[in-house]
Amino acid sequence: MSIYGDYIKSVIRTVPDWPQPGINFRDITPLLQNSSAFRKLIDSFVHRYQDMELDAIAAIDARGFIIGAPVAYELGCSFVPVRKKGKLPFRTISETYTLEYGKSEVELHSDAFRHGDRILLMDDLIATGGTMLAAAKLITRSGGHVVETATIIDLPEIGGSSRIREAGFGVFAVCS
Ligand code: AMP
Repeated sequence: MSIYGDYIKSVIRTVPDWPQPGINFRDITPLLQNSSAFRKLIDSFVHRYQDMELDAIAAIDARGFIIGAPVAYELGCSFVPVRKKGKLPFRTISETYTLEYGKSEVELHSDAFRHGDRILLMDDLIATGGTMLAAAKLITRSGGHVVETATIIDLPEIGGSSRIREAGFGVFAVCS
């Protein structure tokens, strides 16, 4: 957790029963609309990773991009989008994962990383951990080394962050 964790949490809105009954959707748009909160959020990641000699930030489609790009800019490393199926135009590798109902797939350009590149993987939220874990496996398959996974919000009661750690990847969350 970041020193700004409680403050960041206070500017995230929970929308009950969206997009379906029973889901408490964590809406980060009030956080993005608040320039001071958004700066503190990006600074939290920059502070944690500035001495970790990263080569690239890989971020997950779509809210992961909002945080991944400014962190890559600040750290002076490259930015790699991990996209949902069918969005990347060049040669891709993909990883399928199971959702509560059905399946989903994430894709990466096959030339996104050099062997041994040190990668920080980012997304806005960890629930079941399925999305982050599939992306981490994809990066590993492509020759990259996932230094850590990072998110704004972890929902530990759902168990995703434990699942990601059990698979051997570190997890950093600004708030939970
Ligand atoms: P999961 O794969 O179950 O860990 O789900 C994480 C992905 O789904 C992230 O890309 C989130 O943007 C999105 N997501 C899942 N649950 C929520 C939620 N309660 N509020 C906002 N986004 C969510």
